[in-house]
Amino acid sequence: MKEVKAMFYIGCHLSASDGFLAMGRTALSIGANTFQFFTRNPRGSKAKAIDPADVAAFLALAAENEFGTLVAHAPYTINPCSKDEHTREFARMTLADDLKRMEHLPGNVYNFHPGSHTGQGMETGIAQIAETLNAILTPDIRTTVLLETMSGKGSEVGSRFEELREIIDRVELSDKLGVCLDTCHVSDAGYDIADDLIGDLDGVLTEFDRVIGLERLKAVHINDSLNPRGAHKDRHARIGEGCLGAEALGRVVRHPALQGLPFVLETPNELPGYAREIALLKALREG
Ligand code: FE
Ligand code: FE
Ligand code: ZN
Repeated sequence: MKEVKAMFYIGCHLSASDGFLAMGRTALSIGANTFQFFTRNPRGSKAKAIDPADVAAFLALAAENEFGTLVAHAPYTINPCSKDEHTREFARMTLADDLKRMEHLPGNVYNFHPGSHTGQGMETGIAQIAETLNAILTPDIRTTVLLETMSGKGSEVGSRFEELREIIDRVELSDKLGVCLDTCHVSDAGYDIADDLIGDLDGVLTEFDRVIGLERLKAVHINDSLNPRGAHKDRHARIGEGCLGAEALGRVVRHPALQGLPFVLETPNELPGYAREIALLKALREG
């Protein structure tokens, strides 16, 4: 296959507590040209007001340094398909408010965990997630909302590509939707992206294309996994210290179908560890 040398957008999850300019500077200091951040406290409390001067300063820095698409991440605690109505309502309010805030940074992506059906069954879960998306998406938003591929822990919705497809099919403004592929989660879900020296990454991406469509794929979470394929555990490992391994993850960042997407590390690291992993992935991408 012919090598496609698009720009490599690589970064990691960063703390948003000091604002956007601080995240931009931190990203540059570790060799990153994109990053992920929580839109609010990950436990889902009230969001801090966005400072337009901070955003403007960040956007200038990002333009100067050719940053790629940023990945905003919804709090983990929201659940649009909980059996508890108040929890569903809270998810709806949080997602709607976050989308409003994202308009300060148009053209980026907002990723969320589709939800856990908490015993209601997959069909009800899928229907409630779609219902939430139909309630919050409006034609004017300039953000693409991403459903993350999940590990299938507990009653999580979205570990099978078919489940994500079903959600998308039920959403009226589905042109606002995309998918974020998490390498740890898809392996946990049972997809074989690194079984042996060759692996079946091509096969998994072909399946993704058949079921969802590769044009929906807007971001990649590049994580190793502490557990073997199909474990449904969702425990991330550092690159090369898990069951996927550096070679397999190198094939992911080199894959022609994934060029130009933002790759985000969510590995257990502090900044120096992230800097090392970013350098490693840059080297792996060169092959
Ligand atoms: Fe996530
Ligand atoms: Fe993830
Ligand atoms: Zn995870």
